[in-house]
Parts: sequence; C-alpha cells; structure tokens
Amino acid sequence: MNFNSLKIGDRLLKAITDLKFEKLTPVQEKVIPYLIDKNEDLIALAQTGTGKTAAFGIPIVHKINCDKKYPQAIILSPTRELCLQISKDLIAYSKYFENINITAIYGGSNIQPQIKSVRSGTQIVVGTPGRVKDLINRKVLKLKTIEIVVLDEADEMLNMGFKEDLDAILSETPSNKQTLLFSATMPNEVMKLSKTYMDKFKTIEVASRNEGAKNVDHHYYMVNAKDRYNALRRICDINPKIYGIIFCRTRRDTKNVADKLMNDGYNADALHGDLSQSQRDHVMSKFRNRNIQLLVATDVAARGIDIDNLTHVINYNLPDENEVYVHRSGRTGRAGRKGISIII
Ligand code: ADP
Ligand code: MG
Repeated sequence: MNFNSLKIGDRLLKAITDLKFEKLTPVQEKVIPYLIDKNEDLIALAQTGTGKTAAFGIPIVHKINCDKKYPQAIILSPTRELCLQISKDLIAYSKYFENINITAIYGGSNIQPQIKSVRSGTQIVVGTPGRVKDLINRKVLKLKTIEIVVLDEADEMLNMGFKEDLDAILSETPSNKQTLLFSATMPNEVMKLSKTYMDKFKTIEVASRNEGAKNVDHHYYMVNAKDRYNALRRICDINPKIYGIIFCRTRRDTKNVADKLMNDGYNADALHGDLSQSQRDHVMSKFRNRNIQLLVATDVAARGIDIDNLTHVINYNLPDENEVYVHRSGRTGRAGRKGISIII
C-alpha cells in the first residue's frame, strides 16, 4: 500500500515523501487507516524495527488541531533516547505544518526549557513517565485536554518499573480519550495494564516474521567461557568494517568487555546505566557518527536505539528470554538491509 492512498492530506504526504518512505510497513498498513477513521482504543503488537513510530505518529499529526495551543496527544516511552527519536520523527512528519509544537520531556536534563516549551502552548508531548509526572506535579503540564495517549514499548516501561508513574499520569487524562498501546510482546503485566486503562479495544498483531527478521542471518559460535572474549576479538578481526552492538547481560560485563576492547585497540565504547546522561549522549553521538564501531551495551541502554545500518548484533551473553533475543537481533537487518546476529 502506498502512502498516497491514505486520507492524510498533502502536507503530511509531502513530508513522508521527503523521508523516502515508499510503501507502508505491515503494521502501518493495519494501524494507520484504522486510526485515521476511528477513535477507539488499540493494541498493536509488532517487533522492533517494524515502523511503529510512524504507525501512531502519522495519524496523530493528522488529527492535531494546530490552532489550539494545548496538549492533545501524549506519547509515553521508556527511555530518553526513544523520546528524542520519537519527537524527531514527529517533527519530520509535521515539517510542513506551521503552528505545531512538539515537546520532548525526559529526565537527566534541564527541566526549564521543557517547562517553557509546555507553557508556550504545545500540542504533542513525548515523554518518559518520571519527568512527565514531575511536570504534572509542578502544575505545568495539564492533561485534561488530551485526546490520544500512546504507550510506546509498553512492555519495556513496565519492565523498568514505571507502573506507578503510568497510573498517576493516566489518571490525569480524560476518560473519553483514545488509548493506543504499542508493544513487542504481550506479557501478563501488559495485559493487566490494558484491562485497567482501555475500553473496548482492537488488537492488531503483525506476524512475527517481519521484514527485519527476514533480513537477519543468525550465526553462533560454541566456545568455552574462558575463550568468549577471544572469540569476540576474532569476530571483530574478520569483519574490519563491523558496525555493531555487543550485548552483555550486566553493567559490569559491559564495562569490562568495552575496556578490554579499547585496551586491545578496537574502536569501542560502553553504554550502560551507570553513566550520566551527558556521558550516554556523548557515547551515542560518537556511535551514531561512526566514530565508534562497536557499542557494548546492556539491553536497557540499547533499547530503541534507532540506527539503521548496523552490520552486526553480537550476543556476548545470551539473554534469559527469547523475546530479548528478538529485540536484540532486530537492531540489525533494518530498512531492507542485511544484518548478522551472532551468539557466542
Ligand atoms: P519500531 O518502533 O517498530 O521499532 P521504528 O518506528 O523506529 O520501528 O522504525 C524503524 C525504521 O524504519 C526507522 O528508521 C524508520 O525511519 C523506518 N521506516 C518506518 N516506516 C517506514 C516505511 N514505511 N518505509 C521505509 N522506512 C520506514
Ligand atoms: Mg518504536
């Protein structure tokens, strides 16, 4: 399906054309027409890299009334990186709209500009639950006018312990709003959340064999635990142009592996929760600009990082849950490119 068969208007269409999106992804094909026509709640389950941001972002930009200077949509997402990515995407979709104001609200950075942006009359808020709650408590952000709530990566928000913040935020929104829940997986906690907060809802599930998965080759190497690091080095040596993420289970492993790689002369750095926000930003921008080839990260730190052209995802340790492996390998093989997921 092409974007010009959607009832979305010329300005949105032009912005999407600028992004060089040609066809809707499977989740977009199911979600966008539904959201344009209906104001009912929705659960959409699809793996990472399937284009969920545009699936909710395009209908939201379409539905916003730019003449009204109050919050009409709020998107909650688990990490600062995701927030920034989503707001960047929304700004791209709405680039031909003149009076639209999109505000990203996240912790670990100065709150004053965020307050100022909300006060100047924002229509779309993209935030992490903690900081959003903070702005509500300060009486800066008022959600009585909200028409659409998006819970993006709902499974991850619950994993990260945001349940209470979500409860507090959702209780500030009007009961007749539209709630959209996006998740890669549907554990019981997400089911419970949807039962608490959603009215009659439609569930859209995109077959787990998505484009991304098709483009990923899966390799494994069997080595003794003591040879794990050497196996990693060997993989890097035989792929001198490697540009990838190495997943470790703990912050300590992440730091150790990154330190060893750096000592051994590899172009690597670590991303994990012990770093300050500005350190994390610094590492991310180095990685994004390809000044670093190898990012050693925990799952939480790497969650939602949207870098399209990774050549490899390396599982230094296997995760406990299958879904986490799917998330990890979904970091590569994106946007039609080939990727390799390796397990050591
Ligand atoms: P998800 O939230 O499902 O993990 P994203 O929304 O971050 O996935 O999208 C993954 C990548 O695919 C992004 O780089 C995005 O720009 C790109 N993308 C999304 N929709 C399309 C499309 N219709 N055509 C081409 N690329 C797309
Ligand atoms: Mg997403």
